[in-house]
Amino acid sequence: METPFFCPVGTAGSVKGVTPAELRELGAGVLLANTYHLFLRPGAETVRDLGGLHRFMAWDGPIITDSGGFQVFSLGFGMEHGVGKQIGMFPGEERPRGQAAKLVRVDENGATFTSHIDGTRQRLTPETSIAIQEALGADIVLAFDEPTSPLHDADYTRQAMDRTHRWAERCLAARRRDGQALYGIVQGGAFAELRSASARFIGGLPFDGVAIGGSLGKSKADMHAVLDWSMLHLPTAWPRHLLGIGEPEDLFACVERGVDQFDCVAPTRLGRHGQLYTADGRLQITGSEHREDPRPIQDGCGCYTCGAGFSRGYLRHLFAANELLAYTLASLHNLYFVLDLMRRIRLAVCAGELSELRDEFLARYGVAYAAPGVSPQSAGGQ
Ligand SMILES: [Zn+2]
Repeated sequence: METPFFCPVGTAGSVKGVTPAELRELGAGVLLANTYHLFLRPGAETVRDLGGLHRFMAWDGPIITDSGGFQVFSLGFGMEHGVGKQIGMFPGEERPRGQAAKLVRVDENGATFTSHIDGTRQRLTPETSIAIQEALGADIVLAFDEPTSPLHDADYTRQAMDRTHRWAERCLAARRRDGQALYGIVQGGAFAELRSASARFIGGLPFDGVAIGGSLGKSKADMHAVLDWSMLHLPTAWPRHLLGIGEPEDLFACVERGVDQFDCVAPTRLGRHGQLYTADGRLQITGSEHREDPRPIQDGCGCYTCGAGFSRGYLRHLFAANELLAYTLASLHNLYFVLDLMRRIRLAVCAGELSELRDEFLARYGVAYAAPGVSPQSAGGQ
């Protein structure tokens, strides 16, 4: 794969509303699927018995699976509002009046959590995460980590980072399958000292690449600072994946900071909510002002939706009528927009013209640019 590249996300083994043939047509190269979701449903053994993830979802291109850590712990973050971090309780366990049950409990060996599907108690460890990802059979797999939220303080973030480092070594030791690249994950929240320490530690282990995970702070500036603190300490030969990021305006600032791989559900999720990318910024197609609009989403766009001549008025109608085609046509356009932008970024990098493309794109897209530079020692007021 030529880098930098963007991975459409097939959460449960499917990029929602889009066929593999359409993904090929859009120029997608690598897909990312979520271990957490496939582990819970249909189960890793089922995917393996049906020929592995490539055959299961009929995608013969490269696939990345994440470790499950992000979904396991992000389920817990949402439940922690107003709940003490140390109160680890599950549905059915006695708890103080008015406090919500905590969905995830972490210990040195792994994480126990409650399935969002059927409420059953489940467990992931570094060893089981690797075994599950080997059964799924993706080309790039990720080490099991404990991401933290922006609400976690420095003390807890350090504990989680140290645990992630111990888990990283266990993931390496647990590898049984050849031909799968294993990436380590840098944690450390939005704390300069922790991010640098994590990048040095993970960068010293025999991984094949690295992903930047966890809390990227509370703003774009925080995210850029986290990258500045991390990248410096990573092996230059490693591909670097920024987990869960991929809005058009993010791509420039992150590529300039050394990110090679992106994944993000935004193009399909926003598309299903009627938000469409255009060169002039996002368009909300469900608005009544589009009722009589005969124009395509974007003049000159190379996607199927625009090329076939679907008007804004027709797309608005599809959303208003809850027609399934609305989601497909919107997702096709948004994915094309991001994949095409990534393609232009690759060409611009090769031609030494990235800053020209960035200035031209962002001026019209309407987002201010944040130049790479020396970031302060803390971010997000922490
Ligand atoms: Zn289009």
